[in-house]
This record gives sequence, C-alpha cells and structure tokens, in this order.
Amino acid sequence: MRPLVATVDLAAVRHNYAVAKRCAPGRQAFAVVKANAYGHGVREVVTALHDDADGFAVASLEEAAEVRAMHGQARILLLEGCFSADELPIAARLGLDLMVRSAEQVEALLAAQLPRSLNVWLKVDTGMHRLGLSPQVVRAAFAQLRGAAQVSELNLLSHFACADERGHPLTEQQVEVFLDLLDLDFDLRSLANSAALLTVPASHMDWLRPGIMLYGATPFADLSAAELGLKPVMSLTAQLIAVNEVAAGETVGYGTAWVARRPSRIGMVSCGYADGYPRSAPSGTPVVIRGQRVPLAGRVSMDMLAVDLTDLPEAVLGDAVELWGTQLPVDDVARAAGSIGYELLTKVTTRVPRRYQS
Ligand SMILES: *Cc1c(COP(=O)(O)O)cnc(C)c1O
Repeated sequence: MRPLVATVDLAAVRHNYAVAKRCAPGRQAFAVVKANAYGHGVREVVTALHDDADGFAVASLEEAAEVRAMHGQARILLLEGCFSADELPIAARLGLDLMVRSAEQVEALLAAQLPRSLNVWLKVDTGMHRLGLSPQVVRAAFAQLRGAAQVSELNLLSHFACADERGHPLTEQQVEVFLDLLDLDFDLRSLANSAALLTVPASHMDWLRPGIMLYGATPFADLSAAELGLKPVMSLTAQLIAVNEVAAGETVGYGTAWVARRPSRIGMVSCGYADGYPRSAPSGTPVVIRGQRVPLAGRVSMDMLAVDLTDLPEAVLGDAVELWGTQLPVDDVARAAGSIGYELLTKVTTRVPRRYQS
C-alpha cells in the first residue's frame, strides 16, 4: 500500500466542540460538517459528535440526507437553502432547518405544498454581500412568513465577512445591522462562525455555527489554533521513499526549480498535489521528520515531493514524514503556500485513506 494516510483524531473533534461551547455558555451550536466535514469524513465526525452536538450544518440537500441517515433527531441546518422549489418537500421530509436567502425562495416556500412545516432561518445580508435579503426585505418576509402553514419557527441568521481580522470595522457594522432587526419577534438568532464565536461575544446570539475550529485549525492569521486551546484533528503522514545524494550545482525536480548550493541529501516523500498537498507550496515549506522541521526542495509533483535532509543526517529511508498534523499546524503549511487551513483540509483527495482514532 502506498504509504500515505490521513489520521483523524475524533476525540480532538469532541474537545474542540467543547471549546466552542465553553466560549459561549448557554448557547447552542450547529457543528458545521459541510464538504465532508471539511475533508475529515462526515460519517465519522457526525458519529463522534452524535451525543454532544446540538445540531449540524451542511451546504446541500445531499449532505443533509447523509447526516439525517446517521442522526434521526438532530437539527440540521441547510446553509444555502434549497436550490430549486422541488427540493422543498424533500427538505421538509428530512426535517431540516431551512435557510431562506432570496425573495424568490420566500415566494417558493409560500407556494409549496409540504408534508410538514419547516424551521425557517431568514438570512439577512448585513454587509458581506454574498447571499441574503436586505434588512427591508427581511421585514417584508417576516410579515409574510409569520404564521404561514409552511413555517414553524421563524429565525434570523447572518454571516460575517471579516470576523477573522480582529477589530475589523465591518464586523461591528454587521452586528449593528443584525441588532436593528431584533425588534421583530424572531424565535431564534444565529450570527457567529468560528472567528466570531472566539472573539466577538456580542455575536453569540442563540445558535453558534463553528466550522474550522472543530477541525483544530485557526480562522485567524495572528492567533494560532494552540493559542485558542484547539487540538489538531487531521495528521497527514507519508514516508521517505528514496534518499539521494546531490552534488552542489545540481537541480531537483521539475523545472530545475531548486539548485543545490552545497552537497545535499534529498528525500523523496510519498505525497503530492494529487493527494491534495498544495502545489503552490514553495521551497522552504516545512515538513516534520523525526520531530524536526525540514524544508521542501523544488516543485511539488503529482505523487511526491522532495525535501532537503542535509541538516537532518539521522533521517533514513522509511522514516515517517508529517506534512501537517500534531507536530506541524496545517495553518503553517497553508501560510507558506499562500492559502488557508480550510482549503488544505477540504482538498485532501479521496485516494488518501482516512484512519480514525476515537
Ligand atoms: C461554512 C460556514 C460557517 C462555518 O464557518 P467557519 O469559519 O468554518 O467557522 C458558518 N456559517 C456559514 C453560513 C457557513 O457557510
């Protein structure tokens, strides 16, 4: 078997969910498990949180159905709502919490014949300008939906654009726009993603929506996951499958992108961009071998990458190589590659087997 595995620590997921809850005592939380639980495996993560999580949040009906199959009772929030009117009866049958984010969706809901009523979350655009109703349209929709047969709870929700940048003025403005609507008698309110949950108490409301923090990565550029009390969940581990001596002046890999400045020992590692490792990671990006950081040397290939072992003479063929995980935060690798932890975690491909620790 190819020596590459993503080890997923489910106890760490439970720990991180508990951190989220502790940050906002008395509130409830949808564990965000869209995109296959940020690449970690939705079945295993939902099972691990089965008795802890107050609810789950997903991006599509397909993802919602998968969670419902594992959890008969949990609230499941459909974060982007239904993509067409014919999805509404399916959402109702699955007993979902439905996001409604456009005037067309309000109309479709009011026109729908549903087997049962739904908990509805009106999404207000408080300033991100991605999805959502303007505050005025929320007021109109509130009047239309309150008491409608298709609607059980009528709730309010919004999303931050810059909560990951502490003190960003837009965050405060978005909270203000949200609070301005609370003269309407909503049943429940939800505003905070991980970043806001961790740093903006005024955003906590009734229901939190932690995503990235559950997976032990930080939403912030200037605050590490460890500083936030989070435990890393995924460790991506490969092996040294070749060790070569390279003379000074020789090059390594595609495009002669790396030139040996001294006689060098080069290790080949069984992980490449077809596994989800970012091809944008430049020479110098760290990996960990025998507890030591060593730098990438040259371009990442499809199935492997090279590292400079010259300063780690004890490294030998067959050694484990951590690309990220408990010894090397995914956020450090993401920063080196000009990306974010979210992207690296969600892009680990299906050919990488996941191994679970409970
Ligand atoms: C993905 C998502 C979240 C979770 O965000 P994190 O930054 O991962 O905590 C919360 N709310 C909405 C609407 C989302 O799409």
